[in-house]
Amino acid sequence: MNVVKEYFWDFIGLFYPTTCRACNSVLNKGETWICSNCMLDMPKSDYWTDKNNPVNQLFWGKTPIQFASAFLLFSKGSRYRKLIHSLKYKNDQESGIRLGALYGKEIAKQSEYPKIDYIIPVPLHPKKQKKRGYNQSDCIAEGLSETMKIEYLNNVLVRIKNTQTQTKKHKDERWENVKGVFDVQNIDFVKGKHVLLVDDVITTGATIEHCALALIEKANCKVSIGCLARA
Ligand SMILES: [Zn+2]
Repeated sequence: MNVVKEYFWDFIGLFYPTTCRACNSVLNKGETWICSNCMLDMPKSDYWTDKNNPVNQLFWGKTPIQFASAFLLFSKGSRYRKLIHSLKYKNDQESGIRLGALYGKEIAKQSEYPKIDYIIPVPLHPKKQKKRGYNQSDCIAEGLSETMKIEYLNNVLVRIKNTQTQTKKHKDERWENVKGVFDVQNIDFVKGKHVLLVDDVITTGATIEHCALALIEKANCKVSIGCLARA
């Protein structure tokens, strides 16, 4: 950056300091997005190193998933929840891309991790996406794609029914609520390929399991799962 420009932004920074999106402390020079402390303390799960991890176990005896993991584990009141919340509800797409990129970096280091052909985000219903302006899972997929060096496709898996939110539903209701909601288009792109399905938060796994089933049944895909956080 040229010197004049740099002074200008330092000057502006006096009045509008940029704060860490997790803990709200003022960012130091050279820090962007979140502060160094929050970067270091990130509650990473390490689930991508262990095939017997609790997220993978959600699918045991139900749907044949190759490898499932979540990037972060939140304790109650964790400041990192804010990142996911602002990604979903406050147009903070950058947090999704950056977290996705960090997650992808970890997966890419893992030589035992299965070889993935494409990354596929869990879709929103077109109406919902129009209202929100973006799909938060697209942001995560974009970040993962950047560091895993694997293309992401958001024109394959589609949501054909607009469902009510899952948050207040019990386990069985969640399963019924997402039945027949997803469909697969442009099947030739992914036929027989190994795809990494991507979502923000995994709770019971019902939504993502229906996505996986659609891809397995309609396009004969192998499916792995990567979520930003485990609720
Ligand atoms: Zn911070």
